[in-house]
Amino acid sequence: MGRVIAIANQKGGVGKTTTAINLAACMAAAGRKTLLVDLDPQGNATQGIGIDKNAIETGLYDVLLNGVEAAEAVVDTGMENFQAIPSNRDLVGAEVELVDVDRREFRLRERMRLLIDVYDYIFIDCPPSLSLLTLNGLVAADAVLITLQCEYYALEGLSELLQTIILVRDKLNRGLQIQGVLLTMYQHTNLSKQVIEDVRTHLGDKVFRTVIPRNVTLSEAPSFGKPVIYYDLKCAGAQAYLALAREVISRG
Ligand code: ADP
Ligand code: MG
Repeated sequence: MGRVIAIANQKGGVGKTTTAINLAACMAAAGRKTLLVDLDPQGNATQGIGIDKNAIETGLYDVLLNGVEAAEAVVDTGMENFQAIPSNRDLVGAEVELVDVDRREFRLRERMRLLIDVYDYIFIDCPPSLSLLTLNGLVAADAVLITLQCEYYALEGLSELLQTIILVRDKLNRGLQIQGVLLTMYQHTNLSKQVIEDVRTHLGDKVFRTVIPRNVTLSEAPSFGKPVIYYDLKCAGAQAYLALAREVISRG
């Protein structure tokens, strides 16, 4: 059975989408059949793998609210072993419409059930909020990967996120694990080093050994609709995400 990993942090701009795209692409390149689910109405993950978010015929919104089978919304990325369920602004409506739905937190999990056996890994790119959409992501997941930006306020909001994870585990999804905490946008500054030290002190071996450097190539690749390994394999960002994929595979 495949492993479902939600990538979450209610803060925006901390590297969730960059990690979702690039970790998924690295897993696919390593021969793992991989699905990327875009759970953010901004559609950044969708765009970042070269799918036009304004031209989606059947997207995640339709899966959540129009009774469409998840398999029908799956699109090919053109990259081997790598498929996606795209999203766009339509998902904003889902947030509102789901409120009246029975078992509203379970909708994504229930709709994705048939896909779990098809893939080795399913990555869910969560929106920057602790909204009903994010709850759906956490309920659908086996584990959550938390990204933290290496900056002064890295740990701010983390306790709220961890409380939400505990709540989900208690009430909605007993099996939910923490896959790991990923430090992103590392720079060779004293501040970055201090942040890494603090985070490792607080969270211990929950923190991935792999740290993602600040690397301009990582921020350029999405505008070409490509994961970084297909844009510039040699760059530090590509090498870091390959190392992360190896670490996730080896940790199981
Ligand atoms: P989130 O999904 O958490 O909002 P993103 O992954 O979209 O965060 O990242 C926010 C911005 O920072 C984007 O413009 C992205 O290209 C850039 N970015 C993310 N990670 C890196 C990195 N390691 N190095 C350089 N830029 C990065
Ligand atoms: Mg994002």
